[in-house]
Amino acid sequence: MIKTDILIIGAGPTGLFTVFEAGLLKLKCHLIDALPQPGGQCSEIYPKKPIYDIPAYPEILAGDLTDKLLEQCKQFEPGFTLGERAETIDKQDDGTFIVTTNKGTKHQAPVVAIAGGLGSFEPRKPLIDNIADYEDKGVEYIIKNPEFYKDKRVVIAGGGDSALDWTIYLSDVAKEVTLIHRRNEFRGHLDSVEKVQELKNQGKVELITPAEVIGIEGEGKVEAVTIKQDANTFKKSCDHFVPLFGLSPKLGPIANWGLEIEKNAIKVNNALDYQTNIPGIFAIGDVNTYPGKLKLILCGFHEATLMCQAAYQIINPGKRYVLKYTTVSGVDGFDGTRKEAPKAVVKAIE
Ligand SMILES: Cc1cc2nc3c(=O)[nH]c(=O)nc-3n(C[C@H](O)[C@H](O)[C@H](O)COP(=O)(O)OP(=O)(O)OC[C@H]3O[C@@H](n4cnc5c(N)ncnc54)[C@H](O)[C@@H]3O)c2cc1C
Repeated sequence: MIKTDILIIGAGPTGLFTVFEAGLLKLKCHLIDALPQPGGQCSEIYPKKPIYDIPAYPEILAGDLTDKLLEQCKQFEPGFTLGERAETIDKQDDGTFIVTTNKGTKHQAPVVAIAGGLGSFEPRKPLIDNIADYEDKGVEYIIKNPEFYKDKRVVIAGGGDSALDWTIYLSDVAKEVTLIHRRNEFRGHLDSVEKVQELKNQGKVELITPAEVIGIEGEGKVEAVTIKQDANTFKKSCDHFVPLFGLSPKLGPIANWGLEIEKNAIKVNNALDYQTNIPGIFAIGDVNTYPGKLKLILCGFHEATLMCQAAYQIINPGKRYVLKYTTVSGVDGFDGTRKEAPKAVVKAIE
């Protein structure tokens, strides 16, 4: 049994920042994530994309943000159960919760913070009969490392920002990039649409619209796709087929925990502390909903900070916590490290 103060479900940016805020309150955290690595959407979906709206970072790659968050919370020695999905939750007579994963690992804590984001990642897949046979053999639904496509022939399908952005990015990396969309119009940032148009005019990207990929061929790996355009059907040789049709959000097992759910998200009390309808269980980051909710990283950070204050009260009933600036109090890591601002020096100048 793994015991901790705050059990965090989801090691995305919200979950990772919770570790830091909890650490300032001397509360220990353990994180469970279904993915094999921390970082949530940032490391799974868009590690190489720049984010522009993280306070004080004019620009930071999503993968680098994950690294920085890990570095920031390291001093508070979080525990990780990675590659396991939180499956069930059971309230104990002493008020604590036991969360068990699909692999049977048990975790016990008085406070549970669900930072499950979109839930389990379920990419929307095109309806092509044999597509499952080629998954990870040339068919990828998420681009993790663009260098993987170096000198390869890539067919991307989709009409949104992901398809446009990766077409632009890979035009510099891959040997050949083809973008296929079933409409002539794209639903993405105007800049991206214009950039793809420019790349097409320069002959750096092939655009096939309105068209659809209806078949995949190859001996043990993708060697060609079949494309339908109007009444014509033709084959295109390629090494990779990357359908980027977005992710369908699935809360997964958390949906059966007796929590109040609205539109696939967990309802919380945003006027106070992001607690759910079950006292002791909080929901923070993309996974929650309340009037005016914005699914942004910085909102998850804010919610995590307020939630930790409420967790402190549950774990230390009756104890008063006085908020101190880190510039004043410094930061005492659980690993014995101490960070503090240099002390003012009082010395007469002769
Ligand atoms: C392409 C793209 C670009 C984006 N750009 C920006 C941007 O510029 N600025 C911005 O602020 N936001 C952006 N976002 C949104 C941002 O990524 C999310 O707001 C953020 O990731 C939410 O963080 P989170 O920690 O709440 O959830 P997530 O990052 O979704 O992490 C949740 C984690 O919980 C895990 N999980 C879920 N259920 C379980 C379970 N039952 N057991 C174990 N683990 C579980 C998941 O595996 C996942 O790792 C973008 C998103 C995408 C897809």
